[in-house]
Amino acid sequence: MKGVFRRLILLASLLLATVAALAAPAEVLVWIPRAGFAPAPAGPGVALLAVLDTGWLVRMSPAELDRQAAAGAAVTALEPYRGHGLYYLVRLRDAGDFMRVSAAGTAWRLEATTALFVAPAGSARELLPLDLMLRVVPEGPIDPARAAAAPAQLPAAVDHPLVGQLAAEVDETRLYASVSDLQNFGSRNVNFAGCQQAGDYLYAYFQELGLPVEFEEFQFTTWSGIKTSRNIVATLPGESDSTVAIIGAHYDDMPQSATAPGADDNASGTAAVMEAARILSRYHFGHTVRFIAFSAEEYGLWGSQKYVQGAVGRGENILGVINLDMIAFTDAVPEDLDLITNFASRPLAEQFAANAVAHAGLDCLILEFEFWGYSDHASFWDFGYPALCGIEDEDPSSPHYHTSHDTIDTLNFDFMSRVVRASVATLADLAGPLYPLGDLNLDGRLDAADVSALHGFLSDNLVEIPAGAEAADLDGDQVVTVVDLMLLQVAAAG
Ligand SMILES: [Zn+2]
Repeated sequence: MKGVFRRLILLASLLLATVAALAAPAEVLVWIPRAGFAPAPAGPGVALLAVLDTGWLVRMSPAELDRQAAAGAAVTALEPYRGHGLYYLVRLRDAGDFMRVSAAGTAWRLEATTALFVAPAGSARELLPLDLMLRVVPEGPIDPARAAAAPAQLPAAVDHPLVGQLAAEVDETRLYASVSDLQNFGSRNVNFAGCQQAGDYLYAYFQELGLPVEFEEFQFTTWSGIKTSRNIVATLPGESDSTVAIIGAHYDDMPQSATAPGADDNASGTAAVMEAARILSRYHFGHTVRFIAFSAEEYGLWGSQKYVQGAVGRGENILGVINLDMIAFTDAVPEDLDLITNFASRPLAEQFAANAVAHAGLDCLILEFEFWGYSDHASFWDFGYPALCGIEDEDPSSPHYHTSHDTIDTLNFDFMSRVVRASVATLADLAGPLYPLGDLNLDGRLDAADVSALHGFLSDNLVEIPAGAEAADLDGDQVVTVVDLMLLQVAAAG
């Protein structure tokens, strides 16, 4: 009898706890303006969701909110966390933009250039005017150390002779052909079959190059419910270690209609990733290089968030990310390329700008923000990875942006190939090019020219082997013989 009574008391107290939990929100969405170089809020009960230019967006327990408010912290509670839907951050150019965001639903102007918008159902992309840039606020927590991260140490630009050679291999006619192929899917919007077909096309393209490639599937929210899409991830394994250099671009597009050519936004960036893969896959690098086509960027960066979550889980060491988004429309000639960077990624941006001048005759404009979260580089910033976004203009200048008029005939392929040359050079710099054993003419690959050089060396000793005889000792037995020639012939044929 005593036992039963105790159990009843236990039941009653459990019920009371449940009622209390329902009455008080589990967490509160809070805006905290940043003063100077203060570290991002962290600790028990606090999860960092976004680092903006002038403050932080966090979720925290009501108890922690009370404690911080009592301690005099400048904390503004916005609403119960996810009380009314999914949160999006929206780029504001002026007060008029904020009025347009507010007209579409509940919104706060967190800082001059950023609004927070609640999408009660579906996606903000379907509620807000199409000229406004946005990203979803991640569930978090993101890395609290991210905002304070010191500039990443990059491998020093090696000025390796292969870097310029790789850049020079960028082929404008291939870029045109790839943009044309991508435009011909009709619509690569995630709600249309063309997006799926473009994913299959990219998978086949990377596979054809002999690269290991995979689909990375993920889910995200649209007005018509939970949808599935895929990143396409191709890998060129490093010969020395597994640290990674990444070039990426989103292949999905806007508007949400059956006619969405998305030539500049972002067949241009996707074609650049394809061309970088074609060129780099024929060479050898110390580090791993990854070529990624992201999806569902237009609905808030969902694909890149998925990739980064996986990278954090694997403990991936990422040297740098080159994200290309709209690199072929020019509203002025000569056009310069805007490089969007944060403090920690500044050395990467400077290296890119130097390569652009040296290998592409292209000027870059480096723009440093703590936030500017409107393309896939921002998902990498959230976890302290160095990343930049190359874009023709920080505030999209194309009158065709997100319309069915974003077509290939409006693009400038001379400008675009310069951007791709600079990207290929920087990617090669990061990855550390290597000469393969047997590369007698030092052009980075094994081919008929190497075979004939070795043949000449063996037959009459008249051909000079620049790297010395050891470069031709493929079997490693310290002498160069016809056996090495046979091995080289096999390698060059493969
Ligand atoms: Zn884009």
